[in-house]
Amino acid sequence: MSTSADIATDWLEGLSPEPGATKPDPILVADDVHRHYGGVVAVDVDHIEVQRHSITALIGPNGAGKTTFFNVMTAFDQPQSGNWRFNGDSMRGVKPYRMASRGMVRTFQLTKSLAKMTVIENMRLGAKNQIGERWYTGLMPFMWRSQEQAITERAEELLGRFNLAHMRDEYAGSLSGGQRKLLEMARALMTDPKLIMLDEPMAGVNPALKQVINSHIRELRDDGMTVLFVEHDMDMVHDISDWVVVMAEGRVIAEGRPDDIAANPAVIDAYLGAHQGQSLLEEGEIDDGFGEALDAGLTLEGGVIAGDDQPFIFADRKDGARQSTEDEDER
Ligand code: ATP
Repeated sequence: MSTSADIATDWLEGLSPEPGATKPDPILVADDVHRHYGGVVAVDVDHIEVQRHSITALIGPNGAGKTTFFNVMTAFDQPQSGNWRFNGDSMRGVKPYRMASRGMVRTFQLTKSLAKMTVIENMRLGAKNQIGERWYTGLMPFMWRSQEQAITERAEELLGRFNLAHMRDEYAGSLSGGQRKLLEMARALMTDPKLIMLDEPMAGVNPALKQVINSHIRELRDDGMTVLFVEHDMDMVHDISDWVVVMAEGRVIAEGRPDDIAANPAVIDAYLGAHQGQSLLEEGEIDDGFGEALDAGLTLEGGVIAGDDQPFIFADRKDGARQSTEDEDER
């Protein structure tokens, strides 16, 4: 039986790879979105659609406007003009927490966990519509205890899925950079989103953990979510994306399946500048290690294991051997 993700990828197979391409069933549609800072045009997007149940990558050179586009879509920044609809509803003027409760969440390039709260407390904060947070029901524990129990159970289930269960009661500030990326993804799932927007989920993490995050992103799609993610690692983009949108100088300059994009001269021109003529996939400088991991025969099976004193990352090689690393991510 075809899953919704299979249907989405089949639809995308048949689409013409044009900037602003119309999708059969878009979950996010943005029109005429313009954001400038003084004379700097950060975002100038005429039209963009994100196909439901797809993994869509948003790529482009530094300063292309990717993060600003995320910020505007999720109301962390206000555009000078533009309209965008999520699941058919206009989102202009909607507050970020209301977007989250409607099913549109995002993570940040620099992770935003609360260092002086424990991992489980950070997770609980991600839950929506918490009865106990309203002053009148907060005074009546019988009204919120069962909900709180359900929230904790959901949080623990997600911590298990993201291999963070052993860190449940540790301060978030004690997590490695890679574990914080996992925590942020796990916390975003507390709202049961329909669309999850990940801003550079693999930036600064080691190759083994990148594989783990890669497999989590696929699982999100397999669970029926739509993923829009910003990424600079072209191997990763090629490996997991159903569709790629390319921005440069605020505009969408190309869209298509990963192979269309890798061969698109406008993209090579904008993205690689001085490296014209080379395939994106051959570009060594922007492959920050993932190629090496594949060469080493790593599979997507991996995770974080609690060692005697320190958790460590592992990935299983195709030949059955296990490669593990100390987590050396930024702290
Ligand atoms: P990167 O890949 O490096 O994260 P990006 O594609 O996400 O880049 P943005 O961070 O969105 O690009 O920046 C787009 C442009 O807008 C850049 O020229 C940037 O300097 C500018 N810009 C972004 N935020 C601000 C701000 N708060 N004030 C002034 N200029 C800004």
